[in-house]
Amino acid sequence: MHRSTADDEFHQKVTDTRGPLGLLKDMMLMKQTSSSSLRALEFAARSHRMFIDGEWVPAASGETFDTINPATEELLATVPKGGAEDIDRAVRAARKAFEYDAPWRRMTPSERGKVIHRIGDLILENADELAMIETLDNGKPFSVARHGDIPFAADVFHYMSGWATKVEGSSIPLGQKYLAFTQKEPVGVVGVVIAWNFPLLLCAWKLGPALAAGCTVVVKPAEQTPLAALRLAEIAREAGLPDGVLNVVTGYGDAGAALTAHPHVDKVTFTGSTEVGKKIVHAATGNLKKVSLELGGKSPNIVYADADLTTAIPAVANAIFAYHGQACNAGSRLYVEKSIFDKVVVGVSDYANSIVLGPGAESTTQMGPLVSDEQLNRILGYIAAGKGDGAQIAAGGERHGSKGYFVKPTVLTDTRPDMSVVREEIFGPVLVAMPFTDASDVIRQANDSPYGLAAGVFTTNLSRAYTTAARLQAGTVYINQYHMLNAALPFGGFKESGWGRELGRLAVDDFMESKSVVAAL
Ligand code: NAP
Ligand code: MG
Repeated sequence: MHRSTADDEFHQKVTDTRGPLGLLKDMMLMKQTSSSSLRALEFAARSHRMFIDGEWVPAASGETFDTINPATEELLATVPKGGAEDIDRAVRAARKAFEYDAPWRRMTPSERGKVIHRIGDLILENADELAMIETLDNGKPFSVARHGDIPFAADVFHYMSGWATKVEGSSIPLGQKYLAFTQKEPVGVVGVVIAWNFPLLLCAWKLGPALAAGCTVVVKPAEQTPLAALRLAEIAREAGLPDGVLNVVTGYGDAGAALTAHPHVDKVTFTGSTEVGKKIVHAATGNLKKVSLELGGKSPNIVYADADLTTAIPAVANAIFAYHGQACNAGSRLYVEKSIFDKVVVGVSDYANSIVLGPGAESTTQMGPLVSDEQLNRILGYIAAGKGDGAQIAAGGERHGSKGYFVKPTVLTDTRPDMSVVREEIFGPVLVAMPFTDASDVIRQANDSPYGLAAGVFTTNLSRAYTTAARLQAGTVYINQYHMLNAALPFGGFKESGWGRELGRLAVDDFMESKSVVAAL
C-alpha cells in the first residue's frame, strides 16, 4: 500500500487515542486512503462522548465499552457505557426541549421543516465519510452504504421535512351553537431503540417523522454499531436543531430498558427482535406510553412456473443475500412451483457461489462479514441444526475464512415445515427452498408463520399476482421484484412483525396526538 506523509501524520494523530492496533489494518483494507475514509477513521478513533442537551458528555459511571470492526475482529472505537442515570438526564433534557415555550416548539412548521431538510443535505455532503463509518462499524460493503443506506437516509429526512407543514386537523360540524375542530400535536418525548443492521438509516426512519411531528428524542443505538448515531448528532446540531431535541445515549440493552420504562417518555419506537419488542411492550405499561414496533420476519417468496426466471432468480437471491441476510424483510423462505424447482435452486445457488465475500472497505466486495461473533455463531448454529434435521446444502453452508465474521451465502433444500431453519428468523445469508404443487397450499404455507412483515410473488400472470398478494398476510408484498423501499411507502408488519408503520404519511401520524377543541358560540 502506498503511504503518504499525510497518512503517517494521521496515523500519529490517532495513535494516542486508540493505539495503532486495528487502525493500520483498517487503512490497509481501504487500499486507497481517500480523505473521507480518513475522516471516518479519525471519527472512529476519537475519544467518544454521548450527546445530551447539546453537550458531549461521558457516562455518569465513567464506564466505556468497545465496538469491533467485524471484518478484522479488531477494536474500532470505545464509547461511553450509558446507563439508567444517563438515560434519565437525556429524557429530562428532551422534556425541557419539549416545553411549550422552548425554541423547538416556538419554531413555525416551516422553520422546523427547513432544519430537518438541512439534516438530509448534510448527510449527502458527508456521504462518503458516513458510508465508511457504516462499513467499519457494521461490516456492510462501502458501495452498499454509499449508494443505499446513506442516500436513503437523506431522502427520508428530505421527504419527512415536507410533512412538517402539511399535517392538518379538520373542522367538525356540530351545529350552530358550537365551533369544533381537531388539531394534530406532537406526542412528546420519544425513546428510539434500534438494531445494528442499518445504524444510520434506522435513525432516519425514526427521527425524520418524529421531528416532522415536532417531538423531541432520545436515541439508544445498538451496542454493536453506536458510531453513526453519534455522527448524526453532530450533523443535526450543525443543521440547527436546538439543544435537547436530539439526545444520543450509547450503551447496552439495560440503557434501552431504562429508556422504554422511563415515566417521562411518551412514546417508544423500536426496531429489533420480536423478543425484545415484547419486553418493551411490558416496560411501556408503567405510564402506558405509545409503542411502535418494527420486528422480525421470516418472509416467503413464491415463484410460479410462469415467472420470468431471468428476473426472478437474481431477485429471490438478492431478497435473502442483500445486507448479508441481516434485513428484517429478507426473503428467507423460497417456495418454487415443482416443475421449475431444480432450475431455480441451481440458479440461486450459482448466484450464491458467485458472490464475492470480503471486508466491506474493499471495492471488489459484494458481501461483508456478519456484524458480530454472536451472530456468526448463531447463524452457523442454525445451519448445523438444519443439517442435523436432514436438510441438504445446495450452496455455502459454512464459515468463510477464519478471520472476520464471514458466512458463505447458503441455500438449504429438503427442509420440512417443522424445522427451526424454516420457522425461525435466522437473520443471516441462509435461504430455505421448498417445492410446491398447489397455489392454495403454497399460500397457506407462506402464511403459516408468527411473522408477517413482507412477502414476494413472481409470476407473469397479473391476476395471479394480485390474487396472491391479496391473500398473503404481510405488511409489504413485492411483485416481480424484492426490496423496493421508498421514503413515501409505508413499511411495517402484520402479526408478530410489529405495530404501526414506518415511512410515508402513516409514520408521521404515529408521532402525533389528535386534540378535539370545542367552543360554545
Ligand atoms: P435486539 O436484542 O432486539 O436489540 C435491538 C436493540 O434493543 C438494541 O439497541 C439493544 O441493545 C436493545 N435492547 C436489548 N434489550 C433491551 C431491553 N430489554 N429493553 C430495551 N432495549 C433493549 O436485537 P439483536 O440482539 O441485535 O439481534 C438479535 C436478533 O434480533 C437477530 O438475530 C434477529 O433475528 C433480530 N433482529 C431483527 C431486526 C429487524 O430489523 N427487525 C434487527 C436486528 C435484529 P443492545 O444492542 O445493547 O443489545
Ligand atoms: Mg442484543
